[in-house]
Amino acid sequence: MELQERLNEVRSKVGAAERDAGRQAHTVQLVAVSKTFEADTIRLAIEAGQRIFGENRVQESQGKWPELKAETPGIELHLIGPLQSNKAAEAVALFDVIETIDREKIARAIAEEMKRQGKALRLYVQVNTGLEPQKAGIVPEDTATFVNFCRDELGLIIEGLMCIPPAEENPGPHFALLTKLAEKSGVKKLSMGMSGDYETAIAFGATNVRVGSAIFGAR
Ligand SMILES: *Cc1c(COP(=O)(O)O)cnc(C)c1O
Repeated sequence: MELQERLNEVRSKVGAAERDAGRQAHTVQLVAVSKTFEADTIRLAIEAGQRIFGENRVQESQGKWPELKAETPGIELHLIGPLQSNKAAEAVALFDVIETIDREKIARAIAEEMKRQGKALRLYVQVNTGLEPQKAGIVPEDTATFVNFCRDELGLIIEGLMCIPPAEENPGPHFALLTKLAEKSGVKKLSMGMSGDYETAIAFGATNVRVGSAIFGAR
């Protein structure tokens, strides 16, 4: 199958999952995760009308996205991988949304950089719903306090929460937990669901699904 066919298939499955969940059409945003793929492959998705993309490394993104963004107005680029504070300047310069705010140090670095560059990115707090030691994200019980800190102390726009459930577990309970934490934290958006489970995530209320291999192929 060609990339554009795979993209259309994902789009129609997103639409079907919205209907099945009794949700309005086009309320779920598809973030096409293009990590490891080259600019020419990404251009095929852009030609098919895709405008929202996700990448997990700042340095890799700097090698392809400045040019792609210059070619096509209206691209929205999400950082979905862990961020080090020494990359904050580059991240703020290139990305439109950062989904992986998970500690005070990085929140402060991003706030400072946005002020310096005169840019207001939309931000998500990443939650480690499975309490996995190797995984980034704030622990669930600290989420609401951290969101309030980011808003009240740093003036950040926290748009939503993001999670990556443990690979070998049923993701449903993790999606349900993130939904509950978003209510408690007063945020509206939920970034959850990947190639293997985006339809489930939509049933649990995902507003953004991050789909890579189902669109671009195996990495
Ligand atoms: C790679 C990645 C995805 C996409 O994963 P697929 O299984 O290829 O859809 C989604 N979210 C994050 C954080 C990722 O790093």
